[in-house]
Amino acid sequence: MVKKVLILGVNGFIGSALTESILKNTDWEIYGMDMSDHKITEFLGHKNFHFIEGDITINKEWIEYHVKKCDVVLPLVAIANPALYVSDPLRVFELDFEANLSIVRQCVEYKKRVIFPSTSEVYGMSADEEFNEETTSLVLGPIEKQRWIYSCSKQLMDRVIYAYGVQRGLDFTLFRPFNWTGPKLDNIFAAKEGSSRVVTQFIADILHHQRIKLVDGGNQRRSFTDIDDGIAALMHIIENKDNKASGQIFNIGNPDNDISIRELATLILDLVKTYPAYKEIADRVTIEDVTSGDHYGRYYQDIQRRVPSIDNIKNVLGWSPTVTVKEALRKTLNYHLARPSAELNQQETY
Ligand code: UDP
Repeated sequence: MVKKVLILGVNGFIGSALTESILKNTDWEIYGMDMSDHKITEFLGHKNFHFIEGDITINKEWIEYHVKKCDVVLPLVAIANPALYVSDPLRVFELDFEANLSIVRQCVEYKKRVIFPSTSEVYGMSADEEFNEETTSLVLGPIEKQRWIYSCSKQLMDRVIYAYGVQRGLDFTLFRPFNWTGPKLDNIFAAKEGSSRVVTQFIADILHHQRIKLVDGGNQRRSFTDIDDGIAALMHIIENKDNKASGQIFNIGNPDNDISIRELATLILDLVKTYPAYKEIADRVTIEDVTSGDHYGRYYQDIQRRVPSIDNIKNVLGWSPTVTVKEALRKTLNYHLARPSAELNQQETY
């Protein structure tokens, strides 16, 4: 039975949405740490929410104490933004791999269940039509293409966690988000050129620059997944009925939402035009082509297509996504365009 959940990175995109769902739908207690709290302010007074401001690389005693105290651990602190894989690859390794490894080791030591965020990025440039957890090979580019340090760090964490499962009996679930999107992904006022994930970047580009930049023609495809669908899957995983999620790797994505980045640009632009206050701005927007070299620099390499097989999570947990890409974008735009001033002066966290 789940009673106490430890969420590190509780103010992040996934952590904040998960907190909302847990507090609304269960009587579980959350112990949460993050460097800031702007995405969770509304939950700070909740009786089942125990928040501490802190850094996983510094506040190690607090973490160890709470790993011991809780039933399940979600170490969600990570840099998950391609612009940063190429600009600060060492920080990606130190945070996503090194800092998280010590937390996983504590879960082994104290025999606690860990639910760890892997990534759709581990599949890299695989040519498979659908990426399958058991059969797809993980295909990365050369060392010079530093983008892959994220994929590689996450892959090694997956392998270490799996090995702890086999050799030391660690109770784990690995989940792989496929381009989860929604409110609170990135701050549209912090989305400097080339600094944000594509949905937020395009919204920021429309509002602040009246132009969208399409990298290398925009024929790359992604399967955008609504955050609420993703959170519903995570709730099943945490609940872990009949221990079905234990020892599993789950893709969590929406294969029906597979669209090109060019289509995404047009879709977002058309949606923004439906908000009377922003129509005039949106009418002036142009779509420009840029090379990936100009946009991200020489260390970048793209992924052309990324579609999840979701048979495993469907069969094991009975989960499937329900939100179309258009609905997901509409929800995101409602959030940003209805309350833009609230986000001014907010620092972005990862
Ligand atoms: N992209 C783009 N213009 C931008 C930002 C991103 O064309 O201003 C492209 C990028 O090259 C990639 C896709 O959008 O092919 C998705 O990028 P994102 O950063 O969201 O993450 P990824 O899915 O690559 O992890």
